[in-house]
Order: sequence, then structure tokens, then C-alpha cells
Amino acid sequence: QSVAAPGPTIFDKIMSKEIKADIIYEDELCLAFNDISPQAPVHFLVIPKRRIARLQDAEPTDIDLLGHLMLVARSLGSSRAPSGFRLVINNGRDGAQSVYHLHLHVLGGRQMGWPPG
Ligand code: 5GP
Repeated sequence: QSVAAPGPTIFDKIMSKEIKADIIYEDELCLAFNDISPQAPVHFLVIPKRRIARLQDAEPTDIDLLGHLMLVARSLGSSRAPSGFRLVINNGRDGAQSVYHLHLHVLGGRQMGWPPG
């Protein structure tokens, strides 16, 4: 089922600059900004400007947008964490998603463990 709820999220306010964020990249399709509660020396989020609540709400027609988010994460991650980085997408309740606007976490700058907790 979809929880593409109508209400805006905190990320809408970041996109509209109503709430300040440390924006590191922006183009017509996406925005990237540092996470307010970083879990690694490098921790930023890449979000589509068009809201998709969860990854599981994405449609086949979103293929270009999803690819774009990955490539932006790749470029920023490569330059900010050249020795390696991790992409995370939390999806839904069990996935520990707290903001229902799709976002890619990019984490780096330290040795990651596996499996995650
Ligand atoms: P989720 O748990 O939904 O995958 O991740 C949401 C992320 O958004 C969290 O890592 C949280 O720290 C971050 N976040 C929540 N509110 C804000 C905010 O106002 N500004 C920024 N920069 N990050 C936020």
C-alpha cells in the first residue's frame, strides 16, 4: 500500500529554503544537503525535488529520476569520501524511515561495518 501522504515533510521546507540546510548540490531534479544528525564524518542526503514518499512508491516511469539520484550520489560520494562510501535508503516503518520523502543517505569518511544493525 502507499503512504504517499498528502502532507509536506521537513524536506519541502528545506527545498523552499524555509528551513536552513547545508546544501551541497542542487539541480533541476534533486537537492543534496548534509544530514543534521550525521552518522559518519560524511553524511548527506540526496532527495528528488518531486516527492516520492518511499522507494516502494516509485513507478517504472521514475527510472530516469532514480538513476539521476544514484549518479549524483556517486559523484558527490566519490569526491567527498574517495576511499569509499555507503548508500542507504530506509523504506517504511521496519526500514526505519522517519521522513516520508524519498532520500538516499550517503555515508563515508570512516570504515563501515557489515552487516548493519
Ligand atoms: P530516515 O530515517 O527517514 O531514513 O532519515 C531521515 C534523515 O533526515 C535523518 O538522518 C535525519 O537526521 C535527517 N533530518 C531530519 N530532519 C532534518 C533537518 O531538518 N535537516 C537536515 N539537514 N536533516 C534532517
